[in-house]
Amino acid sequence: MTAPIYLDHLASTPLDPAVLAAMLPWLDPAAVGNPHAATHRAGWRAAEAVERARGQVAALIGARPGEIVFTSGATEANNLALLGAAPAGWPVAASAIEHASVTACLPVLAARGHETHVVPVDGTGRLDSGALVKILERGPVLVSVMSANNEIGTLQPVAEIGTLCRRAGAIFYSDAVQSPATAVLDVRALGIDLLSLSGHKLYGPMGIGALYIRDELDLKPLLQGGGQQEGRRPGTVPVALAVGFGAACALAAERCERDAAWITTLRERLWTGLAAALPGLRRNSPQIGCLPGCLNVAIPGIDAADLLLDLPDLAIATGSACASGGAGPSPVLTAIGLSPDLAHGSLRFGLGRGTTEDEIDRAVTLLAIAIGRP
Ligand code: PMP
Repeated sequence: MTAPIYLDHLASTPLDPAVLAAMLPWLDPAAVGNPHAATHRAGWRAAEAVERARGQVAALIGARPGEIVFTSGATEANNLALLGAAPAGWPVAASAIEHASVTACLPVLAARGHETHVVPVDGTGRLDSGALVKILERGPVLVSVMSANNEIGTLQPVAEIGTLCRRAGAIFYSDAVQSPATAVLDVRALGIDLLSLSGHKLYGPMGIGALYIRDELDLKPLLQGGGQQEGRRPGTVPVALAVGFGAACALAAERCERDAAWITTLRERLWTGLAAALPGLRRNSPQIGCLPGCLNVAIPGIDAADLLLDLPDLAIATGSACASGGAGPSPVLTAIGLSPDLAHGSLRFGLGRGTTEDEIDRAVTLLAIAIGRP
């Protein structure tokens, strides 16, 4: 049996060993303490750890600690942003290739009386800024555009969108889940008012994420409960997860640019290998303006889901893990103009910090054999 090859980092990244080391003391029974218990030292110690982590998350994106709300992940953060921060009566505009946890909020907003708009993208997945400008001309809007797409890797012109929104008095929300492992993000420089993050996309733990919300903005909680996190997100903050998430953010800040350069080299090695082995291969991901670790390709004439059934130790994806279970073609691939057949023949590779050249070469060989073109 060959060793498994993990190329699904866009779905989940492995916990970095330094993150695990930071978390372990907080999983020890001796570390008991509710971070919201204000009457004893055990509670204070836990609260200190949570607040240190909040500071690390804030520092990663140029925010202030008080602007960070911990959540259970980015799905919750996306829901909280859209359902909790859209001012009554304001239209909401989202790009055509947002994550399911954003698009699924649009009908809920419509039922609450918000006009909703879907802003188209071009054949590479890049937002049609002209279409956005037309929407912004009509009055205040909450705009939701992700920083980087999780299926094809397209990087959106976030700074340009931030400037357009600022000029128009709009609120700019960005799902930035896929970006910080390989890019520096600064919410103030980019003009972002709300932003979501997820622990397990940047070598931190699963089950925690965060919403950045600019100081001046109002946020209505999704959940009813106690006054934790200033009532913006009732519920006990999980200390070990918060500590791990904070450590992962500190690590990302330190090494994201180095990682980006190496992972880009690996991605191009993968593309070159696949294109040589599989004639007719289509690159669905943009050549430039793409997440370093993302390569989405279409292999004409194959059914990608069937192909992967024969390759259980090659961890790659047919699309977003969050969309799995849906029978139709990927809405992202459809939005960039792929036919249903090509969309069903598409594979997403997600490369990460620990990926090696050997893994890339073995993945190419395994696929070529499985497709019958060794
Ligand atoms: N947004 C994007 C762009 C994502 O890739 C994901 C995870 N697939 C999410 C949101 C949801 O994140 P979580 O798993 O933390 O709920």
